[in-house]
Amino acid sequence: MSNTSLPDQPLDAIIVGAGLSGMYQLHTLRDQLGLRVKVLEAADGVGGTWYHNRYPGARCDSESHSYMFYFSQELVQSWEWSERYPQQPEILRYMNHVADFLQLRPDLVFNTRVVAAEFDEPHNLWRITTASGQVWQAKYLITAVGCLSSANVPAIKGLDSFQGQWVHTSAWPHEGVDMRGKRVGVVGTGSTGIQAIPVIAEQAAHLTVFQRTANYSIPARNAPLSEDFKRHVKENAEEIRALMQETPNAHCFRIEPRSALEVTDEERQAIYQAAWDKGGLQFRATFNDLLRDKEANDTAARFIKHKIQQVVHDPQIAALLSDIDHPFAAKRPPIDSHYFETFNRDNVQLVDIRSHPIECIDADGIQTTQAHYPLDTIVFATGFDAMTGSLLRMNISGRGGLALKDAWHAGPRTYLGLQVPGFPNMFTITGPGSPSVLCNLPPQIEQHVNWITDCIAYLQTHGIRQMEADTAASDDWVQQVNEAAHATLLPQVRHSWYLGANVPGKPRVFMPYAGGFARYRGICDDVAAQGYRGFHLIA
Ligand code: NAP
Repeated sequence: MSNTSLPDQPLDAIIVGAGLSGMYQLHTLRDQLGLRVKVLEAADGVGGTWYHNRYPGARCDSESHSYMFYFSQELVQSWEWSERYPQQPEILRYMNHVADFLQLRPDLVFNTRVVAAEFDEPHNLWRITTASGQVWQAKYLITAVGCLSSANVPAIKGLDSFQGQWVHTSAWPHEGVDMRGKRVGVVGTGSTGIQAIPVIAEQAAHLTVFQRTANYSIPARNAPLSEDFKRHVKENAEEIRALMQETPNAHCFRIEPRSALEVTDEERQAIYQAAWDKGGLQFRATFNDLLRDKEANDTAARFIKHKIQQVVHDPQIAALLSDIDHPFAAKRPPIDSHYFETFNRDNVQLVDIRSHPIECIDADGIQTTQAHYPLDTIVFATGFDAMTGSLLRMNISGRGGLALKDAWHAGPRTYLGLQVPGFPNMFTITGPGSPSVLCNLPPQIEQHVNWITDCIAYLQTHGIRQMEADTAASDDWVQQVNEAAHATLLPQVRHSWYLGANVPGKPRVFMPYAGGFARYRGICDDVAAQGYRGFHLIA
């Protein structure tokens, strides 16, 4: 059987998606449990989000030495990052290195988009239909489709009539987009826009940034890694791994055990300044109550807004950029390379579409309620139908033909973000209800994949045909996810994609588990130790 031809017998497992999750899941099921497994992937290569997000300036905001697998010492020793925050091409090289190192390619099936997955109850099998009409069959269906992989292109009137080129950052053409001599508009100032804007400004003749919500950003202070640091990572891999497993966000830095309100103003200022100079996401680890206490958060918010006003020369532009309506880090906090400085350039203009929304797009550009902006290229950095978009797009139906979109009509309901009641033998890696996007993803992926692998080993050795999350256990978990979110400031954001509020018509449910990675891991381990409490195991 070649890796694209259908096997005669049903497989043990089908994994959908060849990003980090899908690749590691293939490795554990195939090489540790000896199961027959294939990975179906719509793209023509590995990488998932890093395959598609090729926009200018795309890089990781986790530090490189935390954005890699640690389950294998040999794999750690076989790789070296070049920068503190790796760029997309280097991350994609790492992904390909993982595929080669683990000899995964014979079981990766590319150019194969899953368009439907149905649970065949009498045969206890998942039947998975691809865009070309092939039907694959397997006992277990494991979705490894990532949290941020369905583009959110705003439905703006007239987009079809635009005579220039428009692109979404997450579907960037592989041949690139030539911005030289062009009038470019960027819509969106989230993590992606903030990374892309400084680089596009250097290439384009003129750049117009359409800002709906002003955003915080911390300087990344990216730099090449020293030989000493590269050696440090290799020599201390176990310690680095252990640290990431202990911290709430699975990063390799600890949150300082002090309140922003227990130090003097001078001390607080000095702490923020040091974190600003050091750069990166550690800024939010300076105090332990920034995400829980509005008054504490206000101190960080004031510091950053003041920095924006110092960096940006034009007071009106500085005012627009620092008029931020949500607590610091209540949206995923971007880190940047010269984002605010970019607004000091002569070829960059900031347009406030909160006060004057976009009315339509016409052949020549964008029309707001105030003015017309002629453009050759429009870049949508408008984010994703996050966490559920890619799962729902697969048309999954479970027991009794229950469609996932109906099961989730009021928002996603899972048990531990790992299983959905009514969908036996289906597992979701970093699904809604798991810490996922609130964490550095590789450690979380390792944890999820290891849990699923141990679980499948248990099912196989105990002769269990079906495993399915219990409805009451899922309802209780949804409640816990909700309570964890409301113990923080995270739900206080107007258009938060954590809540699904960035996509018109999407139910408002806080999707990621905000109780912290270490706590979550403990809960999952406990559930397994108690014979998979909250799941029905049917022999
Ligand atoms: P995002 O955070 O959802 O930001 C989307 C931006 O587009 C926001 O400024 C939003 O404004 C704006 N927008 C959305 N719809 C719009 C509309 N109809 N009209 C005008 N403006 C609109 O998306 P993202 O920047 O792509 O980031 C998503 C996530 O991807 C991040 O939070 C992060 O987790 C991940 N990411 C990671 C990295 C990395 O380095 N690892 C890099 C980039 C992204 P509002 O705020 O008003 O909605």
